[in-house]
Amino acid sequence: MQALVLEQSEGKIVATVKPLTDDQLPAGEVVVDIDWSSLNYKDALAITGKSKIIRNFPMVPGIDFAGKVYYSEDPRFHSGQEVLLTGWGVGENHWGGLAERARVKADWLVPMPVGLDGRKAMIIGTAGLTAMLCVMALEEGGITPDCGEIVVTGASGGVGSTAVALLSTLGYQVVAVSGRESTHGYLRQLGATEILPRSAFNSDVRPLEKQRWAGAIDTVGAGVLASVLAQMNYSGVVAACGLAGGLTLPTTVMPFILRNVRLQGVDSVSTPTPCRIEAWKRLIKVLPETFYQQVPHEVPLSEVAESAMKLLNNDITGRTLVKIR
Ligand code: NDP
Repeated sequence: MQALVLEQSEGKIVATVKPLTDDQLPAGEVVVDIDWSSLNYKDALAITGKSKIIRNFPMVPGIDFAGKVYYSEDPRFHSGQEVLLTGWGVGENHWGGLAERARVKADWLVPMPVGLDGRKAMIIGTAGLTAMLCVMALEEGGITPDCGEIVVTGASGGVGSTAVALLSTLGYQVVAVSGRESTHGYLRQLGATEILPRSAFNSDVRPLEKQRWAGAIDTVGAGVLASVLAQMNYSGVVAACGLAGGLTLPTTVMPFILRNVRLQGVDSVSTPTPCRIEAWKRLIKVLPETFYQQVPHEVPLSEVAESAMKLLNNDITGRTLVKIR
Protein backbone atom coordinates (compact mmCIF):
# COMPACT_ATOMS: atom_id res chain seq x y z
CA MET A 1 0.00 0.00 0.00
CA GLN A 2 1.06 3.60 -0.65
CA ALA A 3 0.88 6.25 2.05
CA LEU A 4 1.88 9.85 2.61
CA VAL A 5 4.49 9.55 5.33
CA LEU A 6 5.70 12.45 7.46
CA GLU A 7 9.21 12.22 8.85
CA GLN A 8 11.40 14.67 10.72
CA SER A 9 14.77 15.66 9.33
CA GLU A 10 16.95 18.41 10.83
CA GLY A 11 13.94 19.89 12.62
CA LYS A 12 11.88 20.04 9.42
CA ILE A 13 9.00 17.85 8.27
CA VAL A 14 9.52 15.85 5.10
CA ALA A 15 6.38 14.47 3.39
CA THR A 16 6.87 11.57 0.97
CA VAL A 17 4.52 9.11 -0.71
CA LYS A 18 6.06 5.70 -0.06
CA PRO A 19 5.11 2.02 0.21
CA LEU A 20 4.23 0.51 3.61
CA THR A 21 3.28 -3.02 4.57
CA ASP A 22 0.17 -4.03 6.53
CA ASP A 23 2.23 -5.21 9.48
CA GLN A 24 3.59 -1.67 9.92
CA LEU A 25 0.06 -0.33 10.57
CA PRO A 26 -0.76 0.64 14.18
CA ALA A 27 -2.98 -1.51 16.42
CA GLY A 28 -6.74 -1.54 15.93
CA GLU A 29 -9.62 -3.93 15.35
CA VAL A 30 -10.58 -2.86 11.83
CA VAL A 31 -8.53 -2.58 8.65
CA VAL A 32 -10.05 -0.27 6.03
CA ASP A 33 -9.25 0.06 2.33
CA ILE A 34 -9.46 3.80 1.84
CA ASP A 35 -11.10 5.25 -1.27
CA TRP A 36 -11.31 8.96 -0.38
CA SER A 37 -9.76 11.33 2.12
CA SER A 38 -9.69 15.12 2.27
CA LEU A 39 -7.43 17.99 3.16
CA ASN A 40 -8.42 19.95 6.25
CA TYR A 41 -6.73 22.95 7.86
CA LYS A 42 -5.23 20.71 10.56
CA ASP A 43 -3.83 18.33 7.91
CA ALA A 44 -2.18 21.29 6.21
CA LEU A 45 -0.62 22.43 9.49
CA ALA A 46 0.63 18.89 10.15
CA ILE A 47 2.01 18.25 6.65
CA THR A 48 3.83 21.57 6.37
CA GLY A 49 4.96 21.53 10.01
CA LYS A 50 3.57 25.07 10.46
CA SER A 51 2.14 23.95 13.80
CA LYS A 52 3.14 21.16 16.17
CA ILE A 53 0.19 18.90 15.39
CA ILE A 54 2.32 15.73 15.28
CA ARG A 55 4.70 14.69 18.04
CA ASN A 56 5.61 11.12 17.03
CA PHE A 57 7.25 10.31 13.71
CA PRO A 58 6.92 8.67 11.26
CA MET A 59 3.23 9.58 10.96
CA VAL A 60 0.65 9.08 8.25
CA PRO A 61 -1.51 12.25 8.31
CA GLY A 62 -5.17 12.54 7.29
CA ILE A 63 -7.80 13.31 9.93
CA ASP A 64 -10.64 11.79 7.92
CA PHE A 65 -11.32 9.05 5.37
CA ALA A 66 -13.99 6.93 3.72
CA GLY A 67 -13.57 3.39 2.43
CA LYS A 68 -14.50 -0.27 2.75
CA VAL A 69 -13.72 -2.65 5.59
CA TYR A 70 -11.02 -5.12 4.52
CA TYR A 71 -10.94 -7.06 7.77
CA SER A 72 -12.64 -6.66 11.14
CA GLU A 73 -12.12 -8.32 14.53
CA ASP A 74 -15.15 -6.40 15.80
CA PRO A 75 -18.60 -7.91 15.12
CA ARG A 76 -20.09 -4.45 14.42
CA PHE A 77 -18.22 -4.34 11.10
CA HIS A 78 -17.83 -6.82 8.25
CA SER A 79 -15.59 -6.94 5.20
CA GLY A 80 -16.85 -4.94 2.26
CA GLN A 81 -18.89 -2.61 4.51
CA GLU A 82 -18.61 1.09 3.68
CA VAL A 83 -17.44 3.23 6.59
CA LEU A 84 -16.16 6.71 7.34
CA LEU A 85 -14.00 8.20 10.05
CA THR A 86 -13.36 11.73 11.29
CA GLY A 87 -11.31 12.90 14.25
CA TRP A 88 -10.41 10.89 17.38
CA GLY A 89 -6.77 11.95 16.91
CA VAL A 90 -6.41 9.85 13.75
CA GLY A 91 -3.82 11.51 11.49
CA GLU A 92 -2.39 13.24 14.59
CA ASN A 93 -1.30 10.48 16.98
CA HIS A 94 -2.57 7.37 15.14
CA TRP A 95 -1.77 6.76 11.45
CA GLY A 96 -4.47 8.40 9.36
CA GLY A 97 -6.38 8.57 6.11
CA LEU A 98 -3.84 9.80 3.57
CA ALA A 99 -2.98 6.20 2.70
CA GLU A 100 -4.44 3.29 0.80
CA ARG A 101 -5.09 1.39 4.02
CA ALA A 102 -5.60 2.17 7.73
CA ARG A 103 -6.01 0.09 10.88
CA VAL A 104 -8.19 1.82 13.49
CA LYS A 105 -10.34 1.22 16.55
CA ALA A 106 -13.85 0.02 15.74
CA ASP A 107 -15.28 2.66 18.11
CA TRP A 108 -13.96 5.42 15.84
CA LEU A 109 -15.77 4.23 12.71
CA VAL A 110 -19.19 5.33 11.53
CA PRO A 111 -21.09 3.00 9.14
CA MET A 112 -21.65 4.93 5.90
CA PRO A 113 -24.98 6.69 6.45
CA VAL A 114 -27.75 5.87 3.94
CA GLY A 115 -27.75 8.57 1.25
CA LEU A 116 -23.98 9.04 1.22
CA ASP A 117 -21.08 7.42 -0.59
CA GLY A 118 -17.37 7.76 0.10
CA ARG A 119 -16.85 10.70 -2.25
CA LYS A 120 -19.80 12.68 -0.92
CA ALA A 121 -18.79 11.87 2.65
CA MET A 122 -15.35 13.36 2.05
CA ILE A 123 -16.74 16.43 0.22
CA ILE A 124 -18.31 17.02 3.63
CA GLY A 125 -15.45 15.57 5.73
CA THR A 126 -14.29 16.91 9.08
CA ALA A 127 -14.90 20.47 7.87
CA GLY A 128 -18.53 19.80 6.99
CA LEU A 129 -19.20 17.81 10.15
CA THR A 130 -17.82 20.75 12.16
CA ALA A 131 -20.04 23.19 10.23
CA MET A 132 -23.08 21.04 11.11
CA LEU A 133 -22.06 20.92 14.79
CA CYS A 134 -21.84 24.73 14.71
CA VAL A 135 -25.32 25.02 13.19
CA MET A 136 -26.64 22.62 15.86
CA ALA A 137 -25.00 24.82 18.54
CA LEU A 138 -26.89 27.85 17.21
CA GLU A 139 -30.14 25.84 17.21
CA GLU A 140 -29.49 24.64 20.77
CA GLY A 141 -29.01 28.30 21.72
CA GLY A 142 -32.49 29.04 20.40
CA ILE A 143 -31.42 30.85 17.22
CA THR A 144 -34.07 30.31 14.53
CA PRO A 145 -34.21 31.89 11.05
CA ASP A 146 -36.60 34.61 12.25
CA CYS A 147 -34.14 35.80 14.93
CA GLY A 148 -32.07 37.74 12.37
CA GLU A 149 -28.91 37.51 10.28
CA ILE A 150 -26.13 34.96 10.86
CA VAL A 151 -22.54 35.91 10.09
CA VAL A 152 -20.03 33.25 8.94
CA THR A 153 -16.31 34.10 9.01
CA GLY A 154 -13.62 32.44 6.90
CA ALA A 155 -16.62 31.79 4.69
CA SER A 156 -14.89 30.45 1.59
CA GLY A 157 -12.93 27.78 3.50
CA GLY A 158 -14.06 24.19 4.09
CA VAL A 159 -15.99 24.80 7.33
CA GLY A 160 -17.23 28.25 6.33
CA SER A 161 -18.53 27.27 2.88
CA THR A 162 -20.44 24.27 4.26
CA ALA A 163 -21.87 26.45 7.05
CA VAL A 164 -23.10 28.99 4.49
CA ALA A 165 -24.76 26.21 2.43
CA LEU A 166 -26.37 24.61 5.51
CA LEU A 167 -27.69 27.84 7.00
CA SER A 168 -29.11 29.18 3.75
CA THR A 169 -30.87 25.87 3.01
CA LEU A 170 -32.36 25.97 6.51
CA GLY A 171 -33.82 29.40 5.75
CA TYR A 172 -31.37 31.67 7.60
CA GLN A 173 -30.16 34.99 6.11
CA VAL A 174 -26.41 34.41 5.85
CA VAL A 175 -23.79 37.14 5.67
CA ALA A 176 -20.40 35.77 4.64
CA VAL A 177 -17.09 37.33 5.68
CA SER A 178 -14.25 36.70 3.27
CA GLY A 179 -10.80 38.14 2.72
CA ARG A 180 -10.94 37.47 -1.01
CA GLU A 181 -13.08 39.17 -3.64
CA SER A 182 -12.57 36.21 -6.00
CA THR A 183 -14.79 34.09 -3.73
CA HIS A 184 -17.90 36.29 -3.90
CA GLY A 185 -19.58 34.44 -6.81
CA TYR A 186 -18.98 31.10 -5.07
CA LEU A 187 -20.40 32.35 -1.77
CA ARG A 188 -23.53 33.77 -3.44
CA GLN A 189 -24.00 30.42 -5.21
CA LEU A 190 -23.91 28.70 -1.81
CA GLY A 191 -26.63 31.04 -0.55
CA ALA A 192 -24.92 34.06 1.08
CA THR A 193 -27.14 37.13 0.81
CA GLU A 194 -24.35 39.60 1.56
CA ILE A 195 -20.55 39.42 1.61
CA LEU A 196 -18.41 41.63 3.82
CA PRO A 197 -14.62 42.04 3.59
CA ARG A 198 -12.50 40.50 6.33
CA SER A 199 -10.84 43.90 6.84
CA ALA A 200 -14.12 45.26 8.25
CA PHE A 201 -13.69 42.86 11.20
CA ASN A 202 -10.04 43.43 11.92
CA SER A 203 -10.15 47.06 12.97
CA ASP A 204 -9.62 48.09 16.57
CA VAL A 205 -12.57 46.61 18.41
CA ARG A 206 -14.62 48.63 20.85
CA PRO A 207 -16.07 46.47 23.63
CA LEU A 208 -19.57 46.93 22.20
CA GLU A 209 -20.50 47.91 18.65
CA LYS A 210 -23.86 48.39 16.92
CA GLN A 211 -25.90 45.18 17.31
CA ARG A 212 -26.12 43.29 14.04
CA TRP A 213 -26.04 39.48 14.32
CA ALA A 214 -28.46 36.96 15.84
CA GLY A 215 -25.88 34.22 15.43
CA ALA A 216 -22.34 33.67 14.22
CA ILE A 217 -20.15 30.80 13.09
CA ASP A 218 -16.51 31.75 13.48
CA THR A 219 -13.65 29.77 11.93
CA VAL A 220 -11.04 32.51 12.30
CA GLY A 221 -10.64 33.54 15.97
CA ALA A 222 -8.42 36.47 17.09
CA GLY A 223 -9.53 40.01 16.15
CA VAL A 224 -12.25 38.78 13.79
CA LEU A 225 -13.99 36.82 16.59
CA ALA A 226 -13.55 39.75 18.99
CA SER A 227 -15.16 42.03 16.43
CA VAL A 228 -18.06 39.61 15.87
CA LEU A 229 -18.66 39.34 19.65
CA ALA A 230 -18.91 43.13 19.94
CA GLN A 231 -21.60 43.18 17.20
CA MET A 232 -23.86 40.43 18.53
CA ASN A 233 -27.53 41.13 19.24
CA TYR A 234 -28.85 40.80 22.77
CA SER A 235 -28.92 37.01 23.53
CA GLY A 236 -27.02 36.22 20.34
CA VAL A 237 -25.06 32.95 20.05
CA VAL A 238 -21.57 32.53 18.59
CA ALA A 239 -20.31 29.06 17.65
CA ALA A 240 -16.50 29.28 17.59
CA CYS A 241 -14.53 26.42 16.04
CA GLY A 242 -11.40 27.77 14.37
CA LEU A 243 -8.16 29.69 14.52
CA ALA A 244 -7.34 30.44 10.86
CA GLY A 245 -6.58 34.03 11.90
CA GLY A 246 -4.82 33.23 15.17
CA LEU A 247 -5.42 31.66 18.54
CA THR A 248 -5.80 34.78 20.66
CA LEU A 249 -9.11 36.36 21.62
CA PRO A 250 -8.66 40.07 22.40
CA THR A 251 -12.13 40.73 23.80
CA THR A 252 -13.77 42.03 26.98
CA VAL A 253 -16.53 40.62 29.18
CA MET A 254 -18.94 43.32 27.96
CA PRO A 255 -20.81 41.34 25.26
CA PHE A 256 -21.41 38.57 27.81
CA ILE A 257 -22.49 40.63 30.82
CA LEU A 258 -24.38 43.44 29.07
CA ARG A 259 -25.82 41.68 26.02
CA ASN A 260 -26.31 38.15 27.31
CA VAL A 261 -24.16 36.85 24.45
CA ARG A 262 -23.31 33.15 24.48
CA LEU A 263 -19.95 31.91 23.17
CA GLN A 264 -20.17 28.20 22.40
CA GLY A 265 -16.99 26.32 21.59
CA VAL A 266 -17.29 23.52 19.02
CA ASP A 267 -14.98 20.50 18.80
CA SER A 268 -15.42 17.74 16.24
CA VAL A 269 -12.48 15.51 17.24
CA SER A 270 -13.99 13.97 20.38
CA THR A 271 -17.69 14.49 19.65
CA PRO A 272 -19.52 11.48 21.16
CA THR A 273 -20.74 8.96 18.58
CA PRO A 274 -24.53 9.54 19.02
CA CYS A 275 -24.00 13.25 18.32
CA ARG A 276 -21.86 12.44 15.24
CA ILE A 277 -24.53 10.12 13.88
CA GLU A 278 -27.16 12.81 14.41
CA ALA A 279 -24.94 15.40 12.68
CA TRP A 280 -24.36 13.12 9.65
CA LYS A 281 -28.13 12.49 9.38
CA ARG A 282 -28.77 16.23 9.41
CA LEU A 283 -26.04 16.86 6.81
CA ILE A 284 -27.61 14.34 4.41
CA LYS A 285 -31.07 15.79 4.96
CA VAL A 286 -30.14 19.45 4.67
CA LEU A 287 -27.41 19.68 2.01
CA PRO A 288 -28.88 20.02 -1.46
CA GLU A 289 -27.59 17.87 -4.34
CA THR A 290 -26.07 21.02 -5.88
CA PHE A 291 -23.68 21.20 -2.91
CA TYR A 292 -21.95 18.02 -4.09
CA GLN A 293 -21.88 19.26 -7.68
CA GLN A 294 -19.89 22.43 -6.87
CA VAL A 295 -16.70 20.75 -7.93
CA PRO A 296 -14.20 20.71 -5.08
CA HIS A 297 -10.50 20.40 -5.82
CA GLU A 298 -9.63 16.77 -6.33
CA VAL A 299 -6.01 15.70 -5.98
CA PRO A 300 -4.09 12.40 -5.85
CA LEU A 301 -1.92 11.49 -2.85
CA SER A 302 1.15 12.76 -4.72
CA GLU A 303 -0.22 16.34 -4.82
CA VAL A 304 -1.39 16.59 -1.22
CA ALA A 305 1.77 18.28 0.13
CA GLU A 306 1.58 20.99 -2.55
CA SER A 307 -2.14 21.54 -1.83
CA ALA A 308 -1.38 21.83 1.89
CA MET A 309 0.90 24.81 1.20
CA LYS A 310 -1.80 26.39 -1.00
CA LEU A 311 -4.44 25.91 1.69
CA LEU A 312 -2.33 27.67 4.31
CA ASN A 313 -1.57 30.48 1.84
CA ASN A 314 -5.33 31.00 1.54
CA ASP A 315 -5.13 29.97 -2.10
CA ILE A 316 -7.91 27.36 -2.04
CA THR A 317 -11.66 27.92 -2.09
CA GLY A 318 -13.98 25.28 -0.58
CA ARG A 319 -12.98 21.69 0.04
CA THR A 320 -10.07 19.62 -1.26
CA LEU A 321 -10.85 15.96 -1.92
CA VAL A 322 -8.06 13.38 -2.01
CA LYS A 323 -8.69 10.46 -4.36
CA ILE A 324 -6.82 7.55 -2.86
CA ARG A 325 -7.91 4.72 -5.20
P1 NDP B 1 -9.73 26.46 5.31
O1 NDP B 1 -8.31 26.83 5.10
O2 NDP B 1 -10.46 25.69 4.28
O3 NDP B 1 -10.56 27.81 5.58
C1 NDP B 1 -10.12 28.81 6.43
C2 NDP B 1 -10.62 30.15 5.89
O4 NDP B 1 -10.29 31.16 6.84
C3 NDP B 1 -9.95 30.56 4.59
O5 NDP B 1 -10.57 30.04 3.45
C4 NDP B 1 -10.07 32.07 4.66
O6 NDP B 1 -11.40 32.43 4.26
C5 NDP B 1 -9.96 32.37 6.16
N1 NDP B 1 -8.58 32.73 6.51
C6 NDP B 1 -7.43 32.13 6.13
N2 NDP B 1 -6.35 32.74 6.66
C7 NDP B 1 -6.84 33.76 7.40
C8 NDP B 1 -6.24 34.77 8.22
N3 NDP B 1 -4.91 34.86 8.36
N4 NDP B 1 -7.03 35.66 8.85
C9 NDP B 1 -8.38 35.58 8.73
N5 NDP B 1 -9.02 34.65 7.96
C10 NDP B 1 -8.25 33.74 7.32
O7 NDP B 1 -9.82 25.72 6.72
P2 NDP B 1 -11.05 24.86 7.33
O8 NDP B 1 -12.32 25.46 6.88
O9 NDP B 1 -10.78 23.42 7.13
O10 NDP B 1 -10.86 25.17 8.88
C11 NDP B 1 -11.15 26.48 9.38
C12 NDP B 1 -10.73 26.57 10.84
O11 NDP B 1 -11.56 25.71 11.62
C13 NDP B 1 -9.29 26.15 11.10
O12 NDP B 1 -8.73 26.97 12.09
C14 NDP B 1 -9.42 24.73 11.62
O13 NDP B 1 -8.35 24.36 12.45
C15 NDP B 1 -10.73 24.84 12.38
N6 NDP B 1 -11.40 23.55 12.53
C16 NDP B 1 -11.78 23.20 13.78
C17 NDP B 1 -12.43 22.03 14.00
C18 NDP B 1 -12.90 21.71 15.37
O14 NDP B 1 -13.24 20.55 15.63
N7 NDP B 1 -12.97 22.68 16.25
C19 NDP B 1 -12.66 21.06 12.90
C20 NDP B 1 -12.31 21.58 11.58
C21 NDP B 1 -11.68 22.78 11.44
P3 NDP B 1 -11.69 33.72 3.32
O15 NDP B 1 -10.63 33.71 2.25
O16 NDP B 1 -13.06 33.52 2.83
O17 NDP B 1 -11.53 34.90 4.25
